[in-house]
Amino acid sequence: MMNANKESQDIQIKKLVLGTYSTNCYIIISQVTGDSVIIDAPAEPDIIIENLKDTHPCYILLTHGHKDHVGALAKLHSKLKIPLAAHAAEVGLPVIPEIRLNDGDKITFGDILLDVLYTPGHTPGSICFLHNKYLFSGDTIFPRGPGYTRSTSDFRQIITSIKDKIFVLPDDTEFLPGHGMSTSVKREKNKYTDFILRQRDSDLHGDVTWSS
Ligand SMILES: [Zn+2]
Ligand SMILES: [Zn+2]
Repeated sequence: MMNANKESQDIQIKKLVLGTYSTNCYIIISQVTGDSVIIDAPAEPDIIIENLKDTHPCYILLTHGHKDHVGALAKLHSKLKIPLAAHAAEVGLPVIPEIRLNDGDKITFGDILLDVLYTPGHTPGSICFLHNKYLFSGDTIFPRGPGYTRSTSDFRQIITSIKDKIFVLPDDTEFLPGHGMSTSVKREKNKYTDFILRQRDSDLHGDVTWSS
């Protein structure tokens, strides 16, 4: 496990790397009220709960329902007794969400507001959460490229999500993805533009990188 925390005027972000697939769990805490939310529940619920100490947890939020993001969900949900929120199209979750999210929804905890961006492609119900310059991007986008897609149509969908929902954000928006290090809209948009100009393969999907 590795911690890499970020701090801005209104929030503190804790990053926990958990489980076999080194999945990122983020805890966002209001600097003013101490209210917090958890983004994804990969594994090791006790470590997540330990990191919520001195905060007031309000919601568990899911970027999507893949196994490596929900391993700790059942235990976390039953111990914390707070609502789970996931997109309406994300099915087969180990816990039934109390809140079904849609594009454009807003989540408030304390004085903090998160925007919900619907970004399907990696899964039918993949979403990102935006607060000011921070985008919690799940497995939709990584520093190396888009998230894994199972078919050509899923790949087209994830590219549309990235183009229409993420690359329209200000250049200095920072992505905090579901695995690995963070990156910025500006950096990824440049790589994407090169990729699109080079791209000839109409059957592309799977583990695609901007450099492929
Ligand atoms: Zn995934
Ligand atoms: Zn993942």
